[in-house]
Amino acid sequence: MLSDEEIKKLLKAGDIAKRAFSIAEKIAKPGARLLDVAERIERYIMELGGEPAFPVNIGVNHIAAHYTPTPSDSSVIPDDSIVKIDLGVHVDGYIADSAITLYYNPIYEPLVEASRRALEKAIEVVKPGVRASEIGRVIEETIKTHGFKPIKNLSGHGLERYTIHSGVVIPNYHDRLNLYRIREGVYALEPFATSGAGLVVEGSLVTIYALKPTSRALPGSTRTLYERIYGSRKTLPFTPRWFIKNPIDEEAVARGLMELRNLKLLLEYPVLIEKEKAPVSQFEHTVVVTSREVLVTTL
Ligand code: MN
Ligand code: MN
Repeated sequence: MLSDEEIKKLLKAGDIAKRAFSIAEKIAKPGARLLDVAERIERYIMELGGEPAFPVNIGVNHIAAHYTPTPSDSSVIPDDSIVKIDLGVHVDGYIADSAITLYYNPIYEPLVEASRRALEKAIEVVKPGVRASEIGRVIEETIKTHGFKPIKNLSGHGLERYTIHSGVVIPNYHDRLNLYRIREGVYALEPFATSGAGLVVEGSLVTIYALKPTSRALPGSTRTLYERIYGSRKTLPFTPRWFIKNPIDEEAVARGLMELRNLKLLLEYPVLIEKEKAPVSQFEHTVVVTSREVLVTTL
């Protein structure tokens, strides 16, 4: 059961996430550099007394998830685009995970409404005892009613302290094989809608990583990087950008990550792309389910 103290931290994380979106909406406009958008949001989260639970994800058009700008990314938000901003905040390990979709051409409005409405409907049915598959059914039905497809191989998830994916899956479709029932705890609900195949595939680019815990003795320079990252992130996701202050760093960090990968101490999160390169919309909220109530911390 969640203590009052834990709920307080979850609510604080959610409040910071909400405020970070008000900044995001102001600065994320066509012509704005992705790198600036991500860095300003991450800085703002820290100014408000939180820490990023993961690097800010910015998904332009058919990029569904897991892209965060690299230090050398000079790209800007394109005209007429649809852009997902997915951000995470933690306060002492208690996480808020939330996403919005912004769009700069009215043609995307129906696609954006599909996932927005699916999330609203999903939140309406969440309570202790409800099957995860029922939440998925509501999401799928809502998105299809709007004329789109849910992305089936992306899903909501349980959240635990310092853990973004607890292992519990909240599907975005009526997955009859998912027998999980909602109980007291923390969940992220995140419907994705698309006019494409309704599936994502992994791209070759990786910009987000996480460390695996180890008690193994590591060689000198690798140990230094591992300890530097683990010191601030533990096993939470990170991006090399956070550990690069100059071009010399960039090479050292790249080399260190390659060594950690060879030692099987690195989890990699490749960029996820819609299979038909069709545009994707997403909304996400974090809900805290107690025996008494359902709190949407990020709403
Ligand atoms: Mn998210
Ligand atoms: Mn999530």
